[in-house]
Amino acid sequence: MADFKTHVTVAAILSAPMAASAFILGYANMNDAILYALAGTLGGLLPDIDADDSAAIRLIFRLFGALVAGLAIAFSMDKLLHWQVLALAIMSYLVVRFPIQWAFEQFTVHRGTLHSVLANIMFAALAVPTAYHLFALEAKTAWGIGGFIFLGATIHLVLDELYSIELSGMRIKRSFGTAMKLTDWGEPLASVLLVLGCAVGYWFSPSADAWLDAFAWWPESARLAEWIK
Ligand SMILES: [Zn+2]
Repeated sequence: MADFKTHVTVAAILSAPMAASAFILGYANMNDAILYALAGTLGGLLPDIDADDSAAIRLIFRLFGALVAGLAIAFSMDKLLHWQVLALAIMSYLVVRFPIQWAFEQFTVHRGTLHSVLANIMFAALAVPTAYHLFALEAKTAWGIGGFIFLGATIHLVLDELYSIELSGMRIKRSFGTAMKLTDWGEPLASVLLVLGCAVGYWFSPSADAWLDAFAWWPESARLAEWIK
């Protein structure tokens, strides 16, 4: 399988020109395009967050800790004294980094259910409402971020799969077929939780009309818009 550095590099190299194209073709402004490139790169790390002690899990939990600390500051700013706000922010970060990260590591198996296409859909489905509600981004930007998260995470699975083919002798390693899977059928409960995660994410997501309108020249997209309504 590909290592952390390869995943970051490949996800960034593929996401950046696609985000730039979205900007050039008029589907995104400059800020959106930068967010999309970052979302694609972050997506490229997500499937490995179940690998205990990997660089991916540390980075993701540091980002997540910073996000929770930032939210704690935003919500307590005008309710608490300054030192209390600071203490609350540090506490929230530490809670995410240690007990929550530890619990996550205990309950996940590497290359389990989180290393699958279904999990990628869930990452995207949760990213859309997070971007929209927590970061107050526009609905169109939020859906674009979800799309790039999915794209980056799927590039990750393809890359792991490619690494299981030894190009020299065209031999296929035993790990072939374990990276790119719809879900892990051996973990039915976890798969059901992923489907639930997708449904919850979609439920809290804003309407995707902005994108459907942007692609209205494409006849299938008009039919899709009708179907969703
Ligand atoms: Zn992987």
